[in-house]
Amino acid sequence: MGDIKVFKTVVSIQSILQFDYKKSKIGLVPTMGALHEGHMTLVQRSIKENDCTIVSIFVNPIQFNNASDLENYPRNMEQDLQLLKEQGDVIVFAPSVSEVYPENFQTVKLELGQMGLVMEGKFREGHFDGVVNVVNRLFEIIHPAHAYFGLKDFQQLAVVQYMTKKFALDLKIVGCEIYREKSGLASSSRNQRLTESQLIEALVISQALKQAKISAIDKSIQEVIEEAKRIFAASSLELEYFQIVDPTTLMDLKEWKSGAHACLTAYCGEVRLLDNLQLKPA
Ligand code: AMP
Repeated sequence: MGDIKVFKTVVSIQSILQFDYKKSKIGLVPTMGALHEGHMTLVQRSIKENDCTIVSIFVNPIQFNNASDLENYPRNMEQDLQLLKEQGDVIVFAPSVSEVYPENFQTVKLELGQMGLVMEGKFREGHFDGVVNVVNRLFEIIHPAHAYFGLKDFQQLAVVQYMTKKFALDLKIVGCEIYREKSGLASSSRNQRLTESQLIEALVISQALKQAKISAIDKSIQEVIEEAKRIFAASSLELEYFQIVDPTTLMDLKEWKSGAHACLTAYCGEVRLLDNLQLKPA
């Protein structure tokens, strides 16, 4: 069992970083809590690659465009701390909204161009402005050497990488593979909201992605998309989008190219689930 220290204010975390970890290489894992094994793969990697790992737990209100999604987002601090303790020594930063966004907070604006207008940017208006602001604020508070993000949120990782370059930030963004349950379902905090039967129905997501990868061998992009749409139409899930995109620009592809990536979002009942898979080797 590791040692867990929890800080709730900017002043308190900055003072411990300044006095006890001044020369340490800091790894930051930003999360919204309701932690699961997927988050733990990021935490483990950070523990391995840094002197000190900070896990932030903050449900960022400004990245939600839907009030009920924000309200229903699962929160379970005690369980989160227990899971983190099992990983090793971790510092937890769990600030309130007013700590992250004090009255004098100046929002940053990053022009994302098309990258911010497609997929999650299209269906969750303002989402990436919220992500950019919270991530930038966390970087400003903690000054990590490395920050860990999951490929599960493929577009978010691309946006954070773009932001780091545009703002010329002095840190390395580390992208971590998607952790999946044995069933194939990508681990997600939102899975906690699924019923037993929905957990089974949701498997159509990873199955459709796997099928897309097989079909990508000898079918056109359009055929692969049509097939995925048919798979969802025959299921109980409601597909929001299924796109095959360039892994860097996130623009829809017309022809196959290396690194071609399928990204999708589907509703299982009220719960919005996200997944993606690389279809062609990079
Ligand atoms: P969240 O708490 O959902 O905002 O996620 C915090 C970080 O964990 C993000 O960088 C996510 O991409 C990452 N993450 C969430 N689920 C998984 C997963 N199943 N595999 C890998 N990374 C994940």
